[in-house]
Amino acid sequence: MKTRKLLMIPGPTPVARSIQDQMGRETVAFGDPAFVKDFKELIEDLKVMFKCSGEVFVLAGSGTMGMEAAIANVTKKGDDVLVVSNGFFGDRFIDICSRKGLNVDVLSAEWGDTVPVEKIREKLKEKKYAAMTVTHVDTSTGVCAPVAEIGEMMKEFPETIYIVDGVCATAGEPEYVDDMNIDILFTGSQKAFGVAPGLTMIWANQKALERRKSLGTIPESYVDFEKWIPIMHDPSKYYATPAVNLVWALKESVRIMKEEGLENRYERHKKYAKAMQSALEALGFKLLAKEGCRAVTLSNLVYPEGTDDAKFRGLLAEEGIMVAGGLGPYAGKMFRLGHMGNIDKHDLVSVIATVERAAYRAGMNVELGKGVAIVQKSLVE
Ligand SMILES: *Cc1c(COP(=O)(O)O)cnc(C)c1O
Repeated sequence: MKTRKLLMIPGPTPVARSIQDQMGRETVAFGDPAFVKDFKELIEDLKVMFKCSGEVFVLAGSGTMGMEAAIANVTKKGDDVLVVSNGFFGDRFIDICSRKGLNVDVLSAEWGDTVPVEKIREKLKEKKYAAMTVTHVDTSTGVCAPVAEIGEMMKEFPETIYIVDGVCATAGEPEYVDDMNIDILFTGSQKAFGVAPGLTMIWANQKALERRKSLGTIPESYVDFEKWIPIMHDPSKYYATPAVNLVWALKESVRIMKEEGLENRYERHKKYAKAMQSALEALGFKLLAKEGCRAVTLSNLVYPEGTDDAKFRGLLAEEGIMVAGGLGPYAGKMFRLGHMGNIDKHDLVSVIATVERAAYRAGMNVELGKGVAIVQKSLVE
């Protein structure tokens, strides 16, 4: 018999049975009154839960489309944009902005670290930036940026739109759009929301919406906020077909979150991250993210000297978990383990035990049960 394979990459994350069931429902017309009601409630919930007094958009597309939409709606060709990058996904904005004909300045951190807030402030003083992007959790490094602190600082720069990429953070790391002074936040369905890939959720506050208006007609159509505002206010209207079953799946994921309580969900992520990270360190892996800026949604683990990446991840797959490899300068040197969304204590214990078996079989010097004991202790403390 084959061992079940747990999906522990940093997105897609495990999809709960009740969420899968929503995707298996018979598809209805987007104008179906019951569906329209469900979609409306979902939009309202997303606004309230993430404290956004502006608009929420739920669109078919992946997280990268959220990046493109954020830029498209608040900048025009020739504008200056500041990209604050803590890794691979931060850098992705450089390409998106350059293609649009924006002048891009980049502040990069060394992989494993974040750009200090003071450095961002100094840079913002240099010229009038139309927008600034910050990746909340960069999945390539496992680093978490201080988005609330940056938001506070952004009050000094009212002409710059503050864009936060929450793709690997939203619903795992605390994010409150109004309170954190975020102008645009976006995420994808397949990360901490625990839904299959296919939806982008975008929160846009008043400042961003006003900027969009001031731009007149923009070159993009599908990601244009102005096209979608009437639909998000009344989903029985049509602009482009919504992903009906994914919308239902997202609604179920939101129901699960409300049942758990968002604050409890954030606490759970923190607790699980601490348990996993201390256990993995004890097994001989090194966390790439520095202490003080570690994400709670995933861990990026640098191998001990001499570990064969392909072999190790192959053994992990055989033993029953899928993890992701390192990106960029850490390709072959690290693996990435997601621990976000709708996972529970069973998953954590299984995952750490599986890592131990794979490490043992790979010839690493591990004591079987050592990581499991640490996770167990963390879970009962
Ligand atoms: C996964 C991810 C993306 C890209 O999302 P896709 O759904 O793969 O397009 C962007 N930013 C961050 C931080 C991510 O983790």
